This record gives sequence, C-alpha cells and structure tokens, in this order.
Amino acid sequence: MKKMQAIVKKKAGKGVVLEEVPVPEIGINDVLIKIHKTAICGTDVHIYNWNEWAQKTIPVPMTIGHEFAGTVAAMGSNVHDLKIGDVVSGEGHIVCGRCRNCLAGRRHLCNDSKGVGVNRPGCFAEYLCIPITNVWHADPGLPMEIISIFDPFGNAVHSALSFRTLGEDVLITGAGPIGLMAAAVVKHAGARYTVVTDINPYRLELAKKMGATLTLNVSGKRTLKDVQKELGMKEGFDIGLEMSGNGTAFRDMLDNMCHGGKIALLGIPPGELAIDWHKVIFNMLTIKGIYGREMYETWYMMESMLQTGLDIKPVITHRVRYTEYEKAFEAMISGRCGKVIMDWS
Ligand code: NAD
Ligand code: ZN
Repeated sequence: MKKMQAIVKKKAGKGVVLEEVPVPEIGINDVLIKIHKTAICGTDVHIYNWNEWAQKTIPVPMTIGHEFAGTVAAMGSNVHDLKIGDVVSGEGHIVCGRCRNCLAGRRHLCNDSKGVGVNRPGCFAEYLCIPITNVWHADPGLPMEIISIFDPFGNAVHSALSFRTLGEDVLITGAGPIGLMAAAVVKHAGARYTVVTDINPYRLELAKKMGATLTLNVSGKRTLKDVQKELGMKEGFDIGLEMSGNGTAFRDMLDNMCHGGKIALLGIPPGELAIDWHKVIFNMLTIKGIYGREMYETWYMMESMLQTGLDIKPVITHRVRYTEYEKAFEAMISGRCGKVIMDWS
C-alpha cells in the first residue's frame, strides 16, 4: 500500500500530528487529487483545540482539512471530463444525492451532507479523494493559493451576493477571513459604503486593505450610530452581513439596519442567542441563514469575479510549509492573521 504524509487528529484531546497514512483508494466516481496548497479554517482550529463540537463530531483518527487546491492525479472509470494534471479545488460538503432538495438540484440544501476533513478524510495530506461531483475544475490562470481558499471565499460570496448590494450601504460585523473577503466582494458588486467592525485592530487594518470604506473597533467609544453620522447616512444600513458569531455584534447590527433591511447570517454563535424580535418584526427585516456555498453557482461567481478584477490576495497573511503546521495553527489561534496557507507541493 502506498503511503503519504497527513495531518491527523490522532486521539481525543488537544493537538494534531503529522504522520504517514495510506494514500486513499478511489472508487469509480472518485478523483484523486495531488494537494499543492491548503488553508486552515476555524473548524480545523476547533478540531485542533478539541472543543465540545469537535468531541461530539469527529471520529478519531481523522485526517483533517477541507480548503485546498491541487491537480488531478488519478480518476475512477466513470470520470471522463478531467485530465491528469488539471488544476482543481473542491466542495467540502458531500451531498447525499437522494433527498428532496438534492433531487431537485438544490444540493446546497441537502438534508444529509457529510464534511471533508470532518466526517471523512480531509485535505491536509499529500493526496485527497473526493467524488467527481465535488471537484471544481478551476481556471489554471488563477494563483494556486487563491484557489485553495475557494471554500471560505465561497462563504463570503454566498453571503455577500444573497442580496443586491449595488448602491447600497453594507455593514459587516466580524473581520475574520470571511468578513474580510466579503468586504472586497460587496465593493466589487457596487456597494456605496462598506463598514466593517471587529475588536481586533490587526484585522481592521486588513479590512481597509480589502476595500472597506470605514472600519470600527467596537471595543472603543465610537459607535455605529457615530459612523452612520460620519458617512452622512440617515436611515441605517441596507444590508448586514453577520460574520462574527458574536451576539453583541448581531444585536448591534439589528439596531443599525434601515427598515426593510436584509441580513445574511453566517457567523455561528456558540449557543442560543436572544434578540429583540420587535426590531425584526416592526422594521420588517429579512434574515437569511447561510451555510456553505451554493453548488455550484457560488463557485461560478467566485471565479468570474476574480477574472474581472476582484482582488482578495491581501487576506492571505501567512505562508508555511506543511511540516511547520504547528506554526500555522499558532498564527490562527493568535488572531493576528487573515488566511494561513500551507504548501504541500
Ligand atoms: P473568525 O472567528 O476568524 O472571525 C470572527 C471575527 O469576529 C474575529 O475577527 C473576531 O475578533 C470578531 N468579533 C468578535 N466579537 C466581535 C464583535 N462584538 N463585533 C465585531 N466583531 C467581533 O471566523 P471566520 O473564519 O471569518 O468565520 C466567521 C464566522 O462564520 C465564524 O463565526 C464561523 O464560525 C462562521 N462560519 C460559518 C460558516 C457557514 O457556512 N455558516 C462557514 C464558515 C465559518
Ligand atoms: Zn441530499
């Protein structure tokens, strides 16, 4: 059996290890991908830290990771439209194909999806095996490191394009990698003002580089009402993208939306979260939950926006070799980072 290097959650408890595991065997509908670049997601950090969610979700041992770019190394006998060496990324949600939504072609709404690097072996390895239906045949003209962050970029695009932003004022709460990329997307999509909030000065600085009109550190005295005044806004934000998972941020957003405003809710609060529902009802707000990416309309939009001048490169702040994975996780845990890329080529 052929072996490869992989970053594995070996046993219950904190940390991960780099070790040799078998190269995955492919079925007739699968593609074997030689991994070139991977990126670390907050989910990987949860698995690393072995939080409550990870404890009840991750069977060990498990090769982790789901953000990647690579090239086709082998294909099953049912796969006909790829060539060895083609540049690919992939959708990390493996859908069931049989539920009502899957059958209707609404695969992002699958009733029973499984996660790469969560429920089945992931991409922090020299090779990854996924079904052809999850492979994104990428534009080889794009940088590999950009293709490797299509998964979180897709979260940003799915949220940011949920509502029309042309000429609108957009509030993004949370300048994590996804909020940062969303700032660039709404600007590209024609927003008038894009305001980004966080409590992390390093990330607010990045938000400016990503095209935010204005940033606000909510741990200071200045408020979103002040920001609205500074910008000459009178009635509140038209669009809200909640990308922090923080209850205070969400409530602050509800207080600063215009009547009829629309909110995409991507950030995952740690538990139940109380809000003043009167603000939703009497102000006739629309709140849309966002999970993952639309298959594959979001992927199409990601690529077409990159091909027409959208620049998300400033979100990548750290680049390390995969053998230095501890350094990579350290950067993620510190919060003084955007996307952290590991090189496997
Ligand atoms: P992240 O945790 O790196 O970013 C969250 C940011 O919010 C941090 O920079 C943090 O400092 C900031 N923050 C904390 N309190 C705040 C406050 N009061 N006001 C404003 N900002 C505040 O995460 P990310 O990778 O960018 O992901 C963003 C969120 O989306 C997370 O909650 C994550 O769990 C969630 N997520 C959801 C999906 C989905 O499909 N729905 C997918 C990936 C991530
Ligand atoms: Zn399904």
